[in-house]
Amino acid sequence: MQSSDIKVQLIEESKISQVDFNNLPFGSVFSDHMLECDYKDGKWQTPVIKPYSPITLDPSAKIFHYGQSIFEGMKAYKDAEGSTLLFRPLENCKRLNKSAERMVIPQIPEDIFMTGLKKLLEIDNNWIPTKEGSSLYIRPFMFASGNGFHASPANAFKLLICTAPSGAYFAGKVKVLIEEKYARAANGGVGFAKAGGNYAAQFYPTQLAIEKGYNQVIWTDDNTHEYIEEAGAMNIFIRINDTLITSPTSDRILDGITRKSIIQIAKDSGIDVEVRKITVSEVIAAAQSGSLKEMFGAGTAAVISPIAGFGYQEKDYDLPELENPLALQLKKQITDIQTNKAEDPYGWRVKL
Ligand SMILES: *Cc1c(COP(=O)(O)O)cnc(C)c1O
Repeated sequence: MQSSDIKVQLIEESKISQVDFNNLPFGSVFSDHMLECDYKDGKWQTPVIKPYSPITLDPSAKIFHYGQSIFEGMKAYKDAEGSTLLFRPLENCKRLNKSAERMVIPQIPEDIFMTGLKKLLEIDNNWIPTKEGSSLYIRPFMFASGNGFHASPANAFKLLICTAPSGAYFAGKVKVLIEEKYARAANGGVGFAKAGGNYAAQFYPTQLAIEKGYNQVIWTDDNTHEYIEEAGAMNIFIRINDTLITSPTSDRILDGITRKSIIQIAKDSGIDVEVRKITVSEVIAAAQSGSLKEMFGAGTAAVISPIAGFGYQEKDYDLPELENPLALQLKKQITDIQTNKAEDPYGWRVKL
């Protein structure tokens, strides 16, 4: 597919003058345009770029009843020369298709995804913030638009890509609760997919944790609740002495692009990294002996989100305040690569 094949319907009057780029929230101000691509008659049709606006769906569309829906999260940046940069975008496309396979949503050809995304970013180029720490958050998503109450996969789907200029995602230092009852994912389930329902199912236990004074839940395995798995909707890293530990990906743990980039950067910086299962008891023992140095979440939105302390079985544990935490060092290294402030020896950065 050629970029020129994409039909473009431009907005009559841009909304950009109404936006304060110095005070951007995260993911709630939307750019002028969106990309829409329909799957019908057994194939993905040519995408259309049109003004960001509500869409019309049949009340019996299967997305509403059976949650056949997946998404991705990625970011575009502007470097000092004004070039538009993406970070490992093909990884997002591949993961979208991995999620799609599990949810019986048709595969989106890489060509439609990338050509469409690039054209959307060309059209809404002015919406990519330049301020330090801000970026254009990109949300591609696919869902069952086909109708009927029959509990079976739909025969019509939509891919939409919407974008939101966003300020730094700063949650502050979070206090987390290690979950002992609920689980976000199970063996054989859909935890590895970015399927909408995974997040809806997290809201209730997270709300209970918030009521107890925590910000977020640390997910443990559904079977024993002994193994640490993820931090909210982020992968988790735990530093004991000078070793950085992260759980291996599985059916239950999402294969985060930030996670794997951090593993690579940390290893290449000479940090001892262990990808292995880690138990709650090991973390508690480390907290008690003073060898637990840091815990942080990793994901596209926040990049790295440091954890200040955690609760477990009615007891709270604080993490030490470090001078130069690995969380901040690694965050700087990865964001410098993303925004072209540092060499990119990995070829992760994609310039449009
Ligand atoms: C998206 C997501 C992540 C982080 O993935 P990135 O590719 O780094 O953004 C981690 N865990 C869950 C559950 C997620 O949904």
